[in-house]
Amino acid sequence: MNKKSLNNVWVSGKKVLVRVDYNVPMDKEGNITDDTRIRATIPTLEFLLSKNAAVIIASHLGRPKGKVAPEFSLKPAAQRLSQLLFGREVLFANDSVGPEANKMAAALQPGQLLMLENLRFNPKEEKNDPEFAKHLAGLAEILVNDAFGVSHRAHASVHGITKYIPAVSGFLMDKELMHLGQAVSDPVRPFVAIIGGAKVSDKIGVIENLLNKVDTLIIGGGMANTFLAAQGYQTGKSLVEEDKLPLAKELMVAAKEKGVALLLPEDVVVADKFAADAEFKAVPVAQIPAEWMALDIGPATVKNYAAALQGAKTVVWNGPMGVFEFDAFAAGTEAVAQAVAASGAQSIVGGGDSVAALEKLKLAGKISHISTGGGASLEFLEGKELPGVAALADK
Ligand code: ADP
Ligand code: MG
Repeated sequence: MNKKSLNNVWVSGKKVLVRVDYNVPMDKEGNITDDTRIRATIPTLEFLLSKNAAVIIASHLGRPKGKVAPEFSLKPAAQRLSQLLFGREVLFANDSVGPEANKMAAALQPGQLLMLENLRFNPKEEKNDPEFAKHLAGLAEILVNDAFGVSHRAHASVHGITKYIPAVSGFLMDKELMHLGQAVSDPVRPFVAIIGGAKVSDKIGVIENLLNKVDTLIIGGGMANTFLAAQGYQTGKSLVEEDKLPLAKELMVAAKEKGVALLLPEDVVVADKFAADAEFKAVPVAQIPAEWMALDIGPATVKNYAAALQGAKTVVWNGPMGVFEFDAFAAGTEAVAQAVAASGAQSIVGGGDSVAALEKLKLAGKISHISTGGGASLEFLEGKELPGVAALADK
């Protein structure tokens, strides 16, 4: 990486603004139901505290649409962070750029922590407003960006702010960029990508970019149906994007030209309706009943995909193989996850639903790197430059 990291700068005694992604799930009572994202930033925060920096934490939470909304307050995150830091005090400012934030930031001492209220209570954050960015920048001397999950957006706290104070990556960001960057720019081969999920239209950029890099491309999930339809199979009531049939054909031709093995299902699990209690059976792709729909890859396909994963050294996976939300259609995703784990490859999974699937199946621990950024990891895999990463100071 030619960008500066927290390792490359002097932070002792300085005021440091850390942009984190504490967009954590909460129940109706405001209890945090999964604190993974808070835990993931502890190495950066502990490093800064050990260097005696004065640490100001900024994040967004939910979609308050630019208005103050108590249900999206970051206060519970501040409390949880305090617990995770063994009771260390986390001061809290009830705004992000107003008089309270200014005053508390100005008074903050080395070794102290201050969390600002939700950045998105102000519409100027998402608009990358220069005035808002300047105010935020005024709170600190340096920005540490540890929010990979928002760095595909040019928002004030990751982009505009870097006009006024220098920005470096935090340790969580470093981890993301290292794993994703290594896979995309210098993969150990064989390199296998697994792309699934609902629609091919969501993943066109990823498939096109990865076709230039991988040895094998495995397709599953709803999007596989569009490829099957493009091959002339009858797909019944399966999810098919008719307008993407020509694209699917083009991608198959491109794979052949580039010498990439493109693997498609040879059998699928079909259901008589889209429901958890649907009737279901495995059939060859040439025998999908007209009134049924394909909701998972079948057992023969699983075998084939597992064989293709054997010996892989790098695996990038985005998108579940089936409708894993219904237990009857989670087997394909589960088996592929087991095969990824068994391969011993450096494995990287990105995508909100893909991660949710692995967690539901209790297989997340078998993956080398689970990206904390759904949309950001997709854009990275598309080969796009992320605005929040581009804005980091050069080495
Ligand atoms: P990610 O969030 O990991 O990028 P996507 O959002 O692209 O993944 O896709 C996830 C969704 O795709 C899941 O909700 C899953 O139910 C759905 N899906 C997977 N296979 C099928 C299928 N055969 N038919 C319809 N939907 C599917
Ligand atoms: Mg999704």
